[in-house]
Amino acid sequence: MNTTIGVIGLGLMGSAMARRLAECGLPVIGYNRHPRDVEGIETLDNLGETAERAGTLWLMISDFPACREVIDSLGETGIRDHVVINSSTIAPAESAEIARRVEALGGEYLEAPVLGSIPQATTGTLQLLLGGSEALAVRLDDRLRALGTPTHFGAIRSGAGAKLAFNQLIGSLTAAFSMSLGLVQREGVDVEKFMATLRESALYAPTFDKKLDNMLEHSFEQANFPLKHLLKDIRLFTQSAGSQGIDTHLLIGLQHVLEEGVYAGHGNHDYSALFESVVREPGRSDTAH
Ligand code: NAP
Repeated sequence: MNTTIGVIGLGLMGSAMARRLAECGLPVIGYNRHPRDVEGIETLDNLGETAERAGTLWLMISDFPACREVIDSLGETGIRDHVVINSSTIAPAESAEIARRVEALGGEYLEAPVLGSIPQATTGTLQLLLGGSEALAVRLDDRLRALGTPTHFGAIRSGAGAKLAFNQLIGSLTAAFSMSLGLVQREGVDVEKFMATLRESALYAPTFDKKLDNMLEHSFEQANFPLKHLLKDIRLFTQSAGSQGIDTHLLIGLQHVLEEGVYAGHGNHDYSALFESVVREPGRSDTAH
């Protein structure tokens, strides 16, 4: 059995995940569309060769079109008798489509989006949200546990559905906190006293403190999870939940501030930069369309 893992997509998360897998003693190689070095990992600049060398292909790429392009480029030669683990954040229906393509080409597919970011990938404390065959998840257990805690949610779609549900909370909680912090600042309320009271209340979420300094210091360049990907995920949630009869009008405003963030040049910055769209500089007008 070929036990080598080929990590496809060596961006912010894929490179951290590949390094962690290697640090755990697992055989790992990496591939990125635009060739990129990752310390401690052998990287290849050929997708087909990556599949020749690795029995497990672990996708960590931007979105559904990227996943489809990679699977279609690999074709039957690259996919047959391979396991494809997909940790990219895509919609449940999109994941089902990728699963269908992988299985038609003779491969096995496990949906494994992750909750957590670079620090959690680096320390092996991600939450892996699995959808697909439980037997396959058991077979891959050592690899999955190298990155964190796997939870098997059920059939294909369920891991992707859980992931979008979590990311909707990331966006909505951050936007809600931004509005409240903005009013506190504009009314001259002492921020420390406000935070101390919030921390003692049932309304508190740890993410507020995680993003507080970024917002107070207007410092968003150091991105773990880029704003452009949160916008993608809120759009995916809106489409997916909308098609299940869930009213998503509340997310129109959130999408708007994220689009404005991208328009203002924050697409590759930390997602908490949405604060800048919510709490406008006095006199600045709405720029997103
Ligand atoms: P990123 O730094 O923007 O990296 C994106 C990766 O996708 C790059 O390796 C890029 O290759 C590759 N890619 C894009 N289009 C491609 C295509 N058509 N064919 C092949 N490769 C393609 O993003 P990231 O933060 O690592 O996130 C990757 C995925 O994980 C996204 O779905 C994101 O939503 C999800 N996620 C991110 C986090 C986080 O904290 N960052 C956490 C959980 C989940 P190039 O370099 O060649 O463009």
